[in-house]
Amino acid sequence: MNDINWSSLPFGYYKTDWNARCYFKNGKWGELTFTQSEEITMHMAATCLHYGQEAFEGLKAFRGVDGKIRLFRPDENAKRLYRTAKGIMMQPVEEDLFIKACVEVVKRNERFVPPASSGASLYLRPLLIGTGAEVGVKPADEYLFVVFAGPVGPYFKEGFRPVKFQIVKDFDRAAPLGTGTFKVGGNYAASLYSGQRAHDEGYSNCIYLDAIEKKYIDEAGAANFFGIKNNTYCTPKSTSILPSITNMSLRQLALDLGMKVEERHISVEELSSFEEVAACGTAAVISPISQIEDRETKKIYSFGQEAGPICTKLYETLKGIQEGRIEDKHSWNLIVE
Ligand SMILES: *Cc1c(COP(=O)(O)O)cnc(C)c1O
Repeated sequence: MNDINWSSLPFGYYKTDWNARCYFKNGKWGELTFTQSEEITMHMAATCLHYGQEAFEGLKAFRGVDGKIRLFRPDENAKRLYRTAKGIMMQPVEEDLFIKACVEVVKRNERFVPPASSGASLYLRPLLIGTGAEVGVKPADEYLFVVFAGPVGPYFKEGFRPVKFQIVKDFDRAAPLGTGTFKVGGNYAASLYSGQRAHDEGYSNCIYLDAIEKKYIDEAGAANFFGIKNNTYCTPKSTSILPSITNMSLRQLALDLGMKVEERHISVEELSSFEEVAACGTAAVISPISQIEDRETKKIYSFGQEAGPICTKLYETLKGIQEGRIEDKHSWNLIVE
């Protein structure tokens, strides 16, 4: 029996019963094993510690109103981790191993899957690290794949409320031909200073611009950006943003609603023409944005204190699909049984 107050849980680490481990050694992946240990023992010269051979994923499992547990698009997370692993010379994890590990971790921690309609979910954190010892700069020959999970509360505890963002020009999250399209820890390290400063200055996070011209919107903190105008869903096209699975899903839902979808450059100046703007990612699905201030020019772009109608519709639809309340027309959910 748990007596967890699901709706007040933060987005943070929570100890559960089991996590999955799989080691790549001597040129092959070993058995998928499960442990109750929260620790990893590794060589002090492991490449993840020195040269950033580290990649991760984030996805959620939801208990539906029908009692079934659904994992949202784990095949897409598997594909992205595969691409990321290739991108930083790590041994990739095949899709079936990835899915099997995720499904088993959900099953073995079933008592931590929050009840339907609590707004809470079970967050899964797959992790791939280079564990082989190297001092020369080169890829490791040993890797560890881990999947752990823990319950997280609803992102919006006081309703679907818009937040403020700050445009920064004195920091970049990722370089145009760098690792921005890969989900690697290094990109996060690069964003911590500016993210913390944005918090301290009263913003939810910062909006990064393209690193060359500082003209186009790249990403909104650790989330993708989109804007709505003239029945069109517009989202940046860039070689330094992480391809968000939430964004991909919202583009499809926008098409389903009869909207147009554009993936193209979005300049800072264009902001004033949008009816609604928002950030999107697994944690919140959609974070509507009320205000964006350019930290350098002090120019303010305002979008209202309430979430707009299209953001609200997209949010309700995606959450409804995840929680089994709305028909899953595109077969995005994997039912865990
Ligand atoms: C994970 C992540 C996102 C969101 O991706 P989802 O698949 O929607 O969760 C967006 N931007 C960055 C930098 C990320 O790391």
